[in-house]
Formats: sequence, C-alpha cells, structure tokens
Amino acid sequence: LIELRDVNKYYGELHVLRDISLTVGKGEVVVVIGPSGSGKSTLCRTVNRLETIQSGSILLDGRPLPEEGRALARLRAEVGMVFQSFNLFAHKTVLQNVSLAQTKVRRRKRDDADRRSLELLERVGLAAHAAKYPAQLSGGQQQRVAIARALAMEPKALLFDEPTSALDPEMINEVLEVMRQLARDGMTMVVVTHEMGFARSAANRVVFMADGRVVEDRAPEEFFTAPRSERAKDFLSKIL
Ligand code: ATP
Ligand code: MG
Repeated sequence: LIELRDVNKYYGELHVLRDISLTVGKGEVVVVIGPSGSGKSTLCRTVNRLETIQSGSILLDGRPLPEEGRALARLRAEVGMVFQSFNLFAHKTVLQNVSLAQTKVRRRKRDDADRRSLELLERVGLAAHAAKYPAQLSGGQQQRVAIARALAMEPKALLFDEPTSALDPEMINEVLEVMRQLARDGMTMVVVTHEMGFARSAANRVVFMADGRVVEDRAPEEFFTAPRSERAKDFLSKIL
C-alpha cells in the first residue's frame, strides 16, 4: 500500500533520511522506534507530503504521491495523521471537529457528516461528549477525538507520531486500546511510539531507525528477543 524506495531527505546540510526503503502492506501495523533525532517524525511527514524529499520515491497504491493541488488534499485524507499534540480546533465542538474536514474535503452534506461523526465518536467511546469543547475533555479523550477525525476521512492508512507521548500515564491505555481495535479491524497503520507493549502486541513489524537509516525491520518477537544491531541492543537496554 505504501512503498518508499531509496528515499533521501535533507534539511539543508543535515541528511535526515538515508536511503530509506520500506513497504507497508494493506492491513499491516508497522511500529517505528528509535532514538531521538533518528528521523521517525520526518519519515511520517514525508509519507503524507508535509515534507518534500530530495531523492527516491514514495508510492501509494503503486502510484507516486501527488505534488500539489486537489490531489494532494486527497492524499492527506487518504493517509491520515495523528500527532502528539491533538491539534483540535479549540473554538469548535467535538462533533464539529470531526465533521469539518468531511464537509470541506469530502464534500459531504452537514447532516451526513454529523451522522458519520457520531458513529465514529461512538466507536472511540465519546458519543456522550459530542457537544463539548476540546478544553472540557482530558488529553486521552482529545486524542481519541483526533483519531475519530482522521477516521472520518475514510483513510487508506493512518500515521501516528507519538500519539500518547503528551498524555498522563492513566490515559495512555485508552488511546492504545482504540488503536489496537483499529488494528484488529484491519486498518493499515504506521505508528511511531515508545510504547513497547503496544509494539509487541499489535505490530506486525518493528522498524528500528538510527541516524536516518532503517537499521532493523523485523517481526516484534524477533526484534525484542534478539536484536541484531548494536544500536538496537543499546536502545533497548535503555528503555526496557
Ligand atoms: P524524536 O524522537 O525526538 O521525535 P525523531 O526521530 O522524530 O525524533 P525527527 O524529528 O524526524 O526525529 O528529526 C530528525 C532530524 O532532523 C533531527 O536531527 C532534527 O533536529 C532534524 N529536523 C527535524 N525537523 C527539522 C526542520 N524542520 N528543520 C531542520 N531540521 C529538522
Ligand atoms: Mg519525532
């Protein structure tokens, strides 16, 4: 579904993605881990073209990513992204937050969008909070709204960049549980996270990055029990 071939990305002189080749199949859950600054966020951002790349190619469904215009807006709907900071509109209700892009990008009628939003809020356990404003919700609830909003676009894949890093510990699990459910429902997901429990239980593959390279790309049970590279051993010894 998503394929990166020899992708290189620079910020000025800084070579942040080095010959990245990575394939994410339909329905796969790929967890990306690695030290700070290794390029995990940049990798996510290049896949829905929040960043441009200097060489290599990124294919979605076998086609190159669109460069601009409406096709690019459609790409951002097809490959949804959930960030560490929830990025909800503070002056809009939960329901409006989930409905907005549906009416603007998917051109749905308000009623249809709201009906669909309520179904999705139900799915993330927040239907009762539809009329509230983001500030009235906990961080975990806000992040679940952000997930519902991404789902409302009927994405082919979802990218998560440290979705639980800004949350208090007791709220992490409610968000991970929603993500686990999505994984069971067959959603294609790329998840940057420090939650190794999630990586072990939900991932089909773990991609370990260091210095802008993919150093390991393996099944979680293999990676966690027998990392091959020194970088990965070192990383795991610090976090486990
Ligand atoms: P973290 O775990 O801290 O989130 P990361 O693996 O997500 O790290 P990136 O945010 O992708 O790392 O950053 C990779 C490298 O690119 C870092 O050295 C970072 O300082 C640099 N970088 C990131 N964004 C920019 C930018 N907009 N301009 C210049 N350099 C950047
Ligand atoms: Mg990051």
